[in-house]
Amino acid sequence: VKEMGRGTYFFYEKELNARMQARRRAEADLRDGLSRQQFELYFQPILDLQRFAVTGAEALLRWRHPERGMISPSDFIPLAEQCGLIEQLGSWVVREGCRAAAQLPADIRVAINLSPMQFDRPGLVRTVAAALEESGVEPSRIELEITESVLLHDNDVNVATLDELNDLGVTIALDDFGTGYSSLSYLHRFSFDRIKIDHSFIRDILRNEGSLMIVRAIVMLAHSLGLVVTAEGVETDEQLAAVRGEGCDSVQGYYIGRPMPLADFQVAIGNSRGA
Ligand code: C2E
Ligand code: CA
Ligand code: CA
Ligand code: CA
Repeated sequence: VKEMGRGTYFFYEKELNARMQARRRAEADLRDGLSRQQFELYFQPILDLQRFAVTGAEALLRWRHPERGMISPSDFIPLAEQCGLIEQLGSWVVREGCRAAAQLPADIRVAINLSPMQFDRPGLVRTVAAALEESGVEPSRIELEITESVLLHDNDVNVATLDELNDLGVTIALDDFGTGYSSLSYLHRFSFDRIKIDHSFIRDILRNEGSLMIVRAIVMLAHSLGLVVTAEGVETDEQLAAVRGEGCDSVQGYYIGRPMPLADFQVAIGNSRGA
């Protein structure tokens, strides 16, 4: 321990400096990307199982980086949240998502992801209201996806914010259901419209009885509370048959369609209607 003392200290200090520098670079890069408009929304189709038709899409953020290529949101959203850029980025997503919805047929809905950290700032409700107005899109065509962490710690402020969003006429979905803190108490504290079953349960649904039972229980719970259920991450026709058999209302996943640029999504829904 003694020999390690000072040397280790210098080593850590060096490493810490290097890491801080790397992070500052990444942060500047992100800021740059925002001002240079390197972000895009991709759209992944959502198939309604009752009508067996695509009735919506989830907007998923992409960063088209000039050197690093297409970067997926899990690689930069956490950084945006840490360095305070999520409000700006998140507002852009809301505006762009509404703008896209306005360019799609009136029976197609668009789901937009919100970071829990967007709830920490005032102005979220104003941002959404402005985006709705700017785009002229019917509010009921917009769904906001939040995760359970928004409602953690009995957060009354966030529940109030959700109520205000709900009053704008948009719908609210609870994303990644089953993976979070799994307190069911919040389910009736706010009137959600939809639960999205996390893809991890769908991935295992055919080979793990436990996953199947969890999907079954979530569908039962959701339906008895008057909510609709979307199964995420459906990759095969067997999985589609399974979630359909369990009573899921809609599905999303590579088997239905990958996330794609808006123009491709417009072509895809046009084709599926025989247009
Ligand atoms: P999420 O909201 O759960 O979105 C679904 C993710 O699953 C997407 O990853 C999608 O591409 C992927 N996915 C869809 N179908 C399948 C499938 O069949 N199999 C597998 N293995 N994956 C599938 P993506 O686009 O990389 O996004 C990752 C996460 O980043 C999202 O998870 C969401 O939490 C976050 N995110 C994406 N866009 C936004 C955004 O605009 N704002 C915020 N705050 N978060 C976003
Ligand atoms: Ca989502
Ligand atoms: Ca509602
Ligand atoms: Ca999800």
